[in-house]
Amino acid sequence: MAHEEHAKSAPPTKLVIRNIGLLLSGDLDQPILDADTVVAVGDRISAVGKEKDVDTSGASVTVDAKGVALAPGLIDSHVHPVCGDWTPRQNQIGWIDSYLHGGVTTMVSAGEVHTPGRPKDVVGLKAMAIFAQRAFHAFRPGGVKIYAGAPVIEHGMVEEDFKELAAAGVKILGEVGLGSVKDGKTARQMVGWARKYGIQSTIHTGGPSIPGSSLIDKDMVLETDADVIGHVNGGHTALPDDQIVALCERSMRALEIVHNGNERSALLALRTAKELGQLKRVILGTDSPAGSGVQPLGIVRMIAMLSALGEIPAEVAICLATGNTAKMRSLNCGLIAPGREASFVLMDKAQHSAGKDLLDSIQKGDLPGIGMVIADGVVSAQRSRNTPPATRVPEVVGK
Ligand SMILES: [Zn+2]
Repeated sequence: MAHEEHAKSAPPTKLVIRNIGLLLSGDLDQPILDADTVVAVGDRISAVGKEKDVDTSGASVTVDAKGVALAPGLIDSHVHPVCGDWTPRQNQIGWIDSYLHGGVTTMVSAGEVHTPGRPKDVVGLKAMAIFAQRAFHAFRPGGVKIYAGAPVIEHGMVEEDFKELAAAGVKILGEVGLGSVKDGKTARQMVGWARKYGIQSTIHTGGPSIPGSSLIDKDMVLETDADVIGHVNGGHTALPDDQIVALCERSMRALEIVHNGNERSALLALRTAKELGQLKRVILGTDSPAGSGVQPLGIVRMIAMLSALGEIPAEVAICLATGNTAKMRSLNCGLIAPGREASFVLMDKAQHSAGKDLLDSIQKGDLPGIGMVIADGVVSAQRSRNTPPATRVPEVVGK
């Protein structure tokens, strides 16, 4: 905390990103902006526009985008972090830093459920949630901002527990259904208490993920009425098609599609939401680390898969992983607009892609090449070590 206060007292840095070839806003209502320059003061965007119209003087850092595309830093709506940059699930370290190289600047925990010896008694689960919230607030692996401290509800919790958690800074619940509460009535009551104190909720949807978890069907999801229908395409085992369609039609909550789910069901959920005119509810996550490992490129893979096979324009697919998630989860990132967090991913067509430009390459199913990632106004990665190489790469030209 002490050094954060110190950093705040120093004059804020001014970041100017110029020569942007394509500005992807993250906003479904207007995915492409007619602008080539973004200015950030400290960790917030201060101006977006044509270079001649915005004040670029006095920059402490200038980035020449070299004509590539700029989008909001990607959001992974569904991760299972445990402690620092280590995951016991596959016993890997440095996984979060690797996701930064996949364009992810913000992650939302769906529960620190892989913690070895995870406490399931009420005092223990509250303590673990508060610990995780504090630890990830103070430590950002690679620069990635992680909203963690997501307790999994268990029988025995009372309203006072949710009030206490909220007062301690807990803002999200882990996936409902991963604990002992597996009936809609109890889940609905606890989700209601959480909501009353400003804590957002997510529910596991579909078959059990790993031995020990269990089936949550559409009736339980609808009765619980959590804010986010977590992995509507299963994680991995999906509900039958008619149940997925029913969740799209009969709920207005966020429809989360994950990389670690059933891809055919992902396309069904996407098409159904599109037909209902409710693409704004579709948000993306990886649901990793998990049995399928860590997926540094999981979000860009989802963007390419949904754009290519779900037949949505690439600039729209990018909104699912940025502005949509930010809006459904009340985050201040995910959109290129003054006042928003200054987190960006700069991308270009991957070298030798058959696409004619970045958007066309994604619509053809290729991954973008990431050339730079900026988290809260700080250049956190230059040419990605994980994506295929970008054709053109931005450069820091002045400090
Ligand atoms: Zn799950």
